[in-house]
Amino acid sequence: MLKTKTAAALLALAIAAPSFADGLSGDEKKIVASVKSHHDESVALLEKLVNVNSGSLNIAGVTKVADMLRPEFEKLGLKVTWTPMAEIGRAGTFVAAHHGGTGKKILLIAHLDTVFEPDSPFQTFKRTGESVEGPGVSDIKGGIVVILDALHALKDAGLLDKANVTVFLSGDEEKPGHPLATARRDLIAAGKASDLALDFEAMSREGDKDTIHIGRRGALAWRLSATGTSGHSSGVGVGGGYGAVYEVARIVDEFRTELAEPHLTYNTSLIAGSAAAEIDEQATRATVSGKDNIIAGKAYAAGDLRALSEDQAERVKKKMQDIVGRHLDKTSAEISFEEGYPAMAPTAASQALFDQLSKINGDLGMGALNEGDPDKRGAGDIAFVAHDVPGLVGMGLSGKGSHAVGETADLASLDPQAERAAILIARLSR
Ligand SMILES: [Zn+2]
Repeated sequence: MLKTKTAAALLALAIAAPSFADGLSGDEKKIVASVKSHHDESVALLEKLVNVNSGSLNIAGVTKVADMLRPEFEKLGLKVTWTPMAEIGRAGTFVAAHHGGTGKKILLIAHLDTVFEPDSPFQTFKRTGESVEGPGVSDIKGGIVVILDALHALKDAGLLDKANVTVFLSGDEEKPGHPLATARRDLIAAGKASDLALDFEAMSREGDKDTIHIGRRGALAWRLSATGTSGHSSGVGVGGGYGAVYEVARIVDEFRTELAEPHLTYNTSLIAGSAAAEIDEQATRATVSGKDNIIAGKAYAAGDLRALSEDQAERVKKKMQDIVGRHLDKTSAEISFEEGYPAMAPTAASQALFDQLSKINGDLGMGALNEGDPDKRGAGDIAFVAHDVPGLVGMGLSGKGSHAVGETADLASLDPQAERAAILIARLSR
């Protein structure tokens, strides 16, 4: 009898003791329960989304993914709008919104497209245990599923009505249409109408630590062209000038030795020069012709530049122009910069958001979150709103190998990411 009583008492204790730390409210515990109960449903949706090709240039495929998502958001009570973007040669922009709540206005960012066009060999979802493989499985269809899962849990916990959320899914994140001012017009406007932004790209892991970023570098391409006075090689450097090849070599070497500063990288990806040289518009292909004994008349170089803030990018562009202007004898050169992705510089407001999310992770019994190095994240859509609002990057599934055949995601990250996002939205909506 005594024995039974002890067992019952222990069982009662076990039930009373939460499996997570006691920092969660009753409603937040409902969020956790809801996320866990929808796990299989979410994985099934991810499989369906991944199996529809939505390469950025596959207009029908991107539109089909939008059509599949519409009822998922409408079911939760969000209002969906679709804006075709034929003017920039892309499918369109999908927005699902729930307004009328009392809290912060939260922008949730992901995208419909992937880098894998219909001619890629990588087309299908495959699951091995908790690891899933497929085009866009972590970049970023897994992130879309995390968003839906979080909103579903908020609804189940009776908290969605209090929230002001706008889900923004562009159809061309991986290969934006141009001009960017048109392609990102609606995203920038949505940022200006919000208080903060959460980006559902793949979460990084450093070691085994879940890692969230509050900054990322921007990227832009540069193109260099140089001319020299062609002539007999016997005169090179002794009255005949140095020619275009030496001029380009001087410039890229001075970039290498003079531009270095923290958070900045600059790559020279292509170089070509001779008596005659031509380069295509994308700077991916060049043809040259010349002879040993002719001073080079024409040369080209191309590359990119990644910086952590717009100020840094502008400052470095100016330095590059100064270097270009120091011409060698009888040469000239010009540099131009292509329209690029802006940077998201870390701010105190984004740091405060990170701290809030990290506390939620502690309240969930998972300890502190790791803050990632902004230099290690590529450019992304959230940077277009980073001037106007603070934000967090990496709220989607943990993944590896994005943009490459064999991209994977870890399903074990689905529930924690959805719980964190939903509880963060709930706390910001109080
Ligand atoms: Zn991507």
